[in-house]
Amino acid sequence: MSEVVRVLFIGGLGRSGTTLLERLLGQLPGTLPLGEVAHLWERDIRDDERCACGARFSMCEFWQRVGASAFGGWENVDLARVDALRATVDRTRHIPTLAAKKLSPVQHSLITEYAEFYQRVYAAASADAGGDRLIIDSSKHASLAYCLRWCPNVDLRVVHVVRDSRGVAYSWTKQVSRPETGGQAEMTRYSPTRSALLWNAQNAAFSMLGRRGVPVRRVRYEKLLADPRTVVERLAEFAGVELAPGDLRYIGEDYADLGPNHSAAGNPMRFSVGRIPLRRDEEWRAELPSSQRRLVRTLTAPLLNRYGYTTRPVEIPEEVEGPEAPAPAPPPLPTQSSPADSRPEPIGPVVMAPVSVGRE
Ligand SMILES: [Zn+2]
Repeated sequence: MSEVVRVLFIGGLGRSGTTLLERLLGQLPGTLPLGEVAHLWERDIRDDERCACGARFSMCEFWQRVGASAFGGWENVDLARVDALRATVDRTRHIPTLAAKKLSPVQHSLITEYAEFYQRVYAAASADAGGDRLIIDSSKHASLAYCLRWCPNVDLRVVHVVRDSRGVAYSWTKQVSRPETGGQAEMTRYSPTRSALLWNAQNAAFSMLGRRGVPVRRVRYEKLLADPRTVVERLAEFAGVELAPGDLRYIGEDYADLGPNHSAAGNPMRFSVGRIPLRRDEEWRAELPSSQRRLVRTLTAPLLNRYGYTTRPVEIPEEVEGPEAPAPAPPPLPTQSSPADSRPEPIGPVVMAPVSVGRE
């Protein structure tokens, strides 16, 4: 599994439209959407949750072939090792280290060992689909994108999805059940303050990633819903997908026709197949109390302004992040709170970085 695999990583804070964007991009020719691969290890290999095709992970033929090809079977994956590596390297608080130009030999070895687990999944999936596929991983978390950046066999491009922080905050307050668990579990909820701080951290991190030589394209959720076909067309070009006439016919003005997929984990909309409406979710404007709206607005003001949300966002084109893009200093990175962050102890005595920007 040493061949270079092309990966389009969809990043951003959850509830920003990352799953929708993955579904839309995953219909492009030559692509293979895998969902949030970050959750593969626990939710699928360990807990046998449902693949987006409807089958339990252990019964999904696609994923079983991928596991056999990547590891000689999923049972050969050392999940404790993946957990320990993740706890050691894949954390928001380590982004300053992961963003460095050089790593210590120990850090480099841990990060590449961790990224290699992902690379093997990507490469096996691509080979299973006939080879040379553009893998789409909607894992979202910036820290994972930073880890993948160190893997020589991952040709990484990143789509950074941004949504109005107030819409994101409202969405995190809502109750959403997780169908893949049989409705027994709910998606995590955050207070508006917490989601505002996470919004700052994740978005600032992706802006910084663009200045570290990784091709990053920023797209706004609102723009995606206002003009889905144009946005997908531009992202296809960014990702190196060549389009033939008619390739975007599945996207209408306010709908998309989506086929089945094998997304391993993610938002419940990964299960939707057929015609789905493309409508901006603006419920927050009526439902998020004005005091909370002001609070989130204040906490996220620097980046919110930078992304154009103080004017009329629909009219502002998405921008390219790159070495020349000017940016304000990123705000402090708070603790990344995700299921991935709540478990195992880091490996041994290896200290990744001075914890200078977080309180985790
Ligand atoms: Zn499946």
